[in-house]
Amino acid sequence: MKIKAQPSGGSREKIFQCIPVGAGVAIGTIYRHDSRAVIQVRERRIPVTKVRTEQHRVLEAAAEAVGRIGTLQTQARRMTGPAGEELGYILEAYQQMLGGSRLVRGVQKRIAEERINAEAAVMKEIGLMAEAFAAMSDPYLAARMADIREVGRRLVESLGKEVEGDFDNLPAHAVIVADELTPADTALLDPRRVSGLVTILGGVESHTAIVARSLGLPAVVAAADLLDDADNGLTIIVDGGAGIVIVDPVAATLARYRRKRAGFAKSQQSLKKLRAVPAVTRDGCRIGLQANIELPADVDAALAAGAEGVGLFRSEFMFMNRDDLPGEEEQFAEICKVVKQMNGRPVTIRTLDVGADKLGDVFGMKPGPNPALGLRAIRFSLSRRKLMLIQLSAILRASAFGPVRILLPMVCIVDEVREVRRMMNRLIAQLKRRRVKIADPPPPLGIMIEIPGAALAADALAAESDFFAIGTNDLTQYTLAIDRSDDQVAYLYNPLHPAVLRLIQFSAEAGLAAGIPVSVCGEMAGDDRMTPILLGFGITELSMSPNSLPRVKKRILALSLAAISGRVRRITTESDPIQVQAILDDLCQPG
Ligand code: PEP
Ligand code: MG
Repeated sequence: MKIKAQPSGGSREKIFQCIPVGAGVAIGTIYRHDSRAVIQVRERRIPVTKVRTEQHRVLEAAAEAVGRIGTLQTQARRMTGPAGEELGYILEAYQQMLGGSRLVRGVQKRIAEERINAEAAVMKEIGLMAEAFAAMSDPYLAARMADIREVGRRLVESLGKEVEGDFDNLPAHAVIVADELTPADTALLDPRRVSGLVTILGGVESHTAIVARSLGLPAVVAAADLLDDADNGLTIIVDGGAGIVIVDPVAATLARYRRKRAGFAKSQQSLKKLRAVPAVTRDGCRIGLQANIELPADVDAALAAGAEGVGLFRSEFMFMNRDDLPGEEEQFAEICKVVKQMNGRPVTIRTLDVGADKLGDVFGMKPGPNPALGLRAIRFSLSRRKLMLIQLSAILRASAFGPVRILLPMVCIVDEVREVRRMMNRLIAQLKRRRVKIADPPPPLGIMIEIPGAALAADALAAESDFFAIGTNDLTQYTLAIDRSDDQVAYLYNPLHPAVLRLIQFSAEAGLAAGIPVSVCGEMAGDDRMTPILLGFGITELSMSPNSLPRVKKRILALSLAAISGRVRRITTESDPIQVQAILDDLCQPG
């Protein structure tokens, strides 16, 4: 991030470029929140006769903290979309850290051995655990240090010491500036008082980013350079679409951004009116717009946005926040709920997309040397055939209640598709023998194109698959060797890189030549600036987060494919990402 400009005349206005994660303009008052702040407690020696009492206080405080986190979980459950799910998952980890765990035992031992008060023993123990986490080479685990501090804060708070830092005294229109927002922080936020979020850490896929998008708040991440200038109480502007933050703006800047904010609010209103309008280009090409969902509860948002189906149902939610695995009946019931609610619109269910880094502990997996390249997604499912058969059976049975498609994640070779088809055919025969109702013909079996090798072998894969869904998030990550959640290399994460575009074009053409439907369901599908290029590649189905759908539809209504085809061809021969961007900007001009 850099300071882009500083007006003359002694003004303190400072402008920063950060990573945009939540569209919209916020103008408000800075509220600094330091979730990493070290809690200050006084250490006291205690007589041996007091050891038992102090140990008992710790047990009571831990029970109270667990109860308070339970209240936060209830709040989290009320949030729709991935934010609630993400919060629930981590709050549960907090509870586990507090419940009769190594932490509580360690604190009690310290009280007895060092004869110190409970508060001081908690802080010492937390410090030790945080140090151990910080020393881990895995950046995800190292980042859990913030979670451990948060647990310590809650425990000390329950011991009776007032701890500052929660969001009780937010000014109106607060813009929260934090190193990072923990899930517990987020559950405590009153969205009516918060206008925007700025965090120092985090990439496009961080907690803050997911939460901001689903709360609809303007937000940016990776704002480290702003720390010295962002004093509490100063006015701040967050342009979450452009990734611009302005601290202490001059009057002219304020006026400009007030206009931009009003324009954004007006366009949101007018977008709502497009709900029932079909997405047709000016020269008559009909585009199918579907929704990506993570939870059955997201179906409401999908329908409200006018989605014509579910283009990607990430099935992982069924396996989260629990110690056991969901059986076939439970999976069938959850999938059926969505299929019935979509009321005849197609639902594309993706089989489990997990690896050692995601839900690995639920399946007792040991992380391999590089989880992103290891036993994950379809590779994992084929290594746990029973699990896969249960999931396939649940989906097949749900197909009796509405149109369903089965989507396989991270397919790399044709054998993976063939193997799943064999499993599916055997299952279909069994279900029919048992007179269990399934769709006739059975659901189409499609694959995600998200590995560069799969994109380059798309012609061979198309011969085995009933449809393609291009996952541009992983396709970009694997093509450019950029971890999609790492803020340190986020500046290189660019789906407009010519290599990524060529892979999308090649796989789209291979799918269409084989006569199978091709959709895009990565974040690129929900970015209306990318719409002309995807349509120019011949793609006529896009699936995205429901929030993005009206904006993409608006772009489609203004486009003429005949008028852009020459420029799209130029994009595909361009090798400089900056030139690609320039042509794309031109494509997005009205007229
Ligand atoms: C993708 O990789 O583009 C995709 C849609 O899948 P996910 O984001 O769930 O990995
Ligand atoms: Mg993916």
